[in-house]
Amino acid sequence: MPGRLQDKVAIVTGASRGIGEAISRVFVAEGARVVGVARSAGALEALARDLAAAGAGGRFVPRVADVTSPGAAKEAVRETLERWGRIDILVNNAGVGHFAPVADLAEAAWDEMMAVNLKAPFLWSQAVLPHMMERRDGHIIMISSVAGTTTFVNGAGYCASKWGLMALADTLRQEVRPYELRVTAVCPGSVQTHFGGTPPRDYSLRPEDVAHTVLEVAAAPRRVVYGTVIVRPLVPADRQ
Ligand code: NAP
Repeated sequence: MPGRLQDKVAIVTGASRGIGEAISRVFVAEGARVVGVARSAGALEALARDLAAAGAGGRFVPRVADVTSPGAAKEAVRETLERWGRIDILVNNAGVGHFAPVADLAEAAWDEMMAVNLKAPFLWSQAVLPHMMERRDGHIIMISSVAGTTTFVNGAGYCASKWGLMALADTLRQEVRPYELRVTAVCPGSVQTHFGGTPPRDYSLRPEDVAHTVLEVAAAPRRVVYGTVIVRPLVPADRQ
């Protein structure tokens, strides 16, 4: 039986671990071909080997890059089009979190969050848009956060970057509607990854929970536009 993303081509940033790895695994399992982007060559290659051993050889191609590097997005798009001739889905997932009161937050931490969480999705979206607009087909999925819909103490920089990402997603959605392109922001609550250096709560979402949400969004019929999807863990009654 064909997968739900059979022969679709996707670029997934931040594919070396956590949510991006889980999205890559689910996409490949559903028949997609994925270019996985991150800085950690070893982790990307290990994922490619693992998927190849599971019978998906050649359907996951690692691309070692810093998403913030000038030209990285355009180069990845060019190579993906050379390899597979199309790009159906871009998942802007790479992200970093630094949590401290505004009084103490390092300028470098602020800059990194703005660069990875906000500027990179702009650059990578801009890089795929000419192709998607010409084809009048494509879906850009931003992995935002509930931090893009609310604020919390120690989260000023992270929340600001994700609120900015929500504004980028909302604006882009309106701009590309005439081209029949879709833009979705997926906003997870706490997820069990190594993100931001804080240990996740045991009832947090698993990376594969977010990956399945992203699959639903990506595999939805073309007539369906999700817009913003918030996905939270069910907090046990005794922890509320
Ligand atoms: P993670 O386990 O720390 O993974 C982050 C990924 O981003 C890694 O693959 C990392 O790869 C990549 N990355 C970071 N900086 C990069 C850069 N400059 N260039 C290329 N890749 C870069 O975190 P995660 O939890 O999976 O987070 C993924 C996304 O989900 C983020 O956007 C995050 O804001 C969002 N999110 C997370 C949670 C949570 O609780 N975990 C909740 C809501 C939303 P390399 O280090 O190999 O480059």
